[in-house]
Amino acid sequence: MHELLKDTPGIQKLLLGNEAITRGALEAGVDVATTYPGTPSSEIADTFSKIARQATHEQIDPGFYFEYSINEKVALEVAAAASVCGLRSLTCMKHVGLNVASDTFMTYLYVGCKGGHIIVSADDPYCHSSQNEQDNRYFALFGSAPMLEPSTPDEAKEMTRIGFDLSEELRLPVLMRTTTRLNHARGPVLLKPMTKPRRKGRFEKNPLLVTVPSTARAQHPVLLEKMERAEKISEKSPFNSIIKIGTPKDVGIIASGVSVTYAHEVAKVMNLDVSLLKLGMTHPIPRKLCEKFLNSCSQVLVVEELEPILENQLKALAYDLGSDVKIFGKSSGHFSRLYEYTPELVAQAYAKLFKMKSPYPKPVQSTLKLPSRPPSLCPGCPHRATYYAVRKAAPKETVYPTDIGCYTLGKEKPLETADLLFCMGSNAGTASGLAVATDQKVVSFMGDSTFFHSGIPPIINAVHHNHDVVITILDNRTTAMTGHQPHPGTEFDGMGRPAKMLLVEDVVKGLGVQHLEVVNPNNIKATTEAFKRALDFKGTAVVVSKSPCILLELERKRKAGEKKSVYTIDQKECKRCKTCIGRFGCPAQFYGEDGSVNIDPTQCNGCGNCAEICPFHAIHVVGD
Ligand code: SF4
Ligand code: SF4
Repeated sequence: MHELLKDTPGIQKLLLGNEAITRGALEAGVDVATTYPGTPSSEIADTFSKIARQATHEQIDPGFYFEYSINEKVALEVAAAASVCGLRSLTCMKHVGLNVASDTFMTYLYVGCKGGHIIVSADDPYCHSSQNEQDNRYFALFGSAPMLEPSTPDEAKEMTRIGFDLSEELRLPVLMRTTTRLNHARGPVLLKPMTKPRRKGRFEKNPLLVTVPSTARAQHPVLLEKMERAEKISEKSPFNSIIKIGTPKDVGIIASGVSVTYAHEVAKVMNLDVSLLKLGMTHPIPRKLCEKFLNSCSQVLVVEELEPILENQLKALAYDLGSDVKIFGKSSGHFSRLYEYTPELVAQAYAKLFKMKSPYPKPVQSTLKLPSRPPSLCPGCPHRATYYAVRKAAPKETVYPTDIGCYTLGKEKPLETADLLFCMGSNAGTASGLAVATDQKVVSFMGDSTFFHSGIPPIINAVHHNHDVVITILDNRTTAMTGHQPHPGTEFDGMGRPAKMLLVEDVVKGLGVQHLEVVNPNNIKATTEAFKRALDFKGTAVVVSKSPCILLELERKRKAGEKKSVYTIDQKECKRCKTCIGRFGCPAQFYGEDGSVNIDPTQCNGCGNCAEICPFHAIHVVGD
């Protein structure tokens, strides 16, 4: 049995914030967990998957149902329906995933839930692995959802556990907003007793569950009334509290989420005498508690990453109170709306407010000019071969809209096959727009998981309007970038059970695509010819470039006891034309001090593609 499934209350475990959220859901007796993987949320669902797969292997019942849904909207709908039937549900996603799920999210709040439902939105200040750093706390305000923001892994576990009760009390899904530092930090987590899942729900028919206009009009005031009750709960929430540091006088700090940890720690390091209002339930804010706090201060500093959401609400509150308390934060220039905060940044803001020096040393600027090391596709990645073939086949002015996944790394030299990117599934839609707007050839790229997520509707749109584009589906048989999660094109589901495997090309055929070719990118010559034919086709052409992720292939070989091949360059045959290193760009290749081109045997994954493109046949398998 997986250790997180064990009922061992009182024990402390060192857990990732994401693992703590999974444990919190298990302690609350979660019945259904759903997701579409996305960093920084992935380990919440991956932990559910690991537990479920271990249980499948041991032929025991994990007690819950888990799935990697095809996208965040479907994930939310699966869990919401289970919750309407009285089961406890959890849905997790990265912040931009909530954009995909928002259509359901906004009206789900009108419908409400029965079994508790936690929706985790993992935000990514600094865009560590995202295309923007939107602040999803706005979604709680936008849709009227109760919101929790944990500051430590232990609190994340507790908020998840108690959040189910809150959700059932209000009959509303609860938005739990986390950020990367919380998701990926480890901390001690005190385990509590496990609750038995409910297992079976029941759908009770009710016309108010069908949001036609008359129902929606009736349900909107119900939602607002629920949020009034939520505010009363927020006033008494154990997650909202005042912490006294030193001997507080009339200066206060208000913080939420992971910023609470920085605000607290730095105030202690700087020996400040302040009160800290720690907000964990941040929507609705506990107005009475905030009023009391503001009334006790002449100056308040608000510490919150990204948008001034608390700051603006507190200013409005102070205005209503007729209070002359000074509220500092982003508009006063103490903090920025950009990127993640750090203890050093918080110390600088304290130093400005308290007119003292920051105890943290200024970062030393290195005078060393280090070479840049852009992220790169793995040695042996089949995407590199596809990109190389496309560049050979396509005219120079070709435009390459791309998508979210490993293949965005095609942006880098020497491949340069990423020209436009918005979000998941945007490649084919933007390809159509480019074809309408320009005379340039257009070749777009998306992965297999992205195809299932949101890539299908824009292909239908392109076919229906006969847009002259080549849409490439890089089918590497997995959701590679987020950690090799399964998708509808794989043979097993997230619980390790056999699943119906859909072939990408079969689905594409069903969309009415007239020109479809399936290629193995490791045959670069044949792939190049296939792209030439697709580019010659007038209308929507699709090329499915199918080869497993090299990491999966290495794993398969390891399990089968096969050795991976390693390639080397025969320096007598090599003419130093640089075709391999300069145009293909495998990171296993490097220049020797004498200008020679070499292969690092520890990096080479043995795909053999550089051997195929070498015009002088200088590259061979070691030992041949
Ligand atoms: S492509 Fe062949 S000949 Fe050219 S540098 Fe590479 S190994 Fe040498
Ligand atoms: S065979 Fe060539 S292209 Fe493939 S991983 Fe090795 S060095 Fe890179």
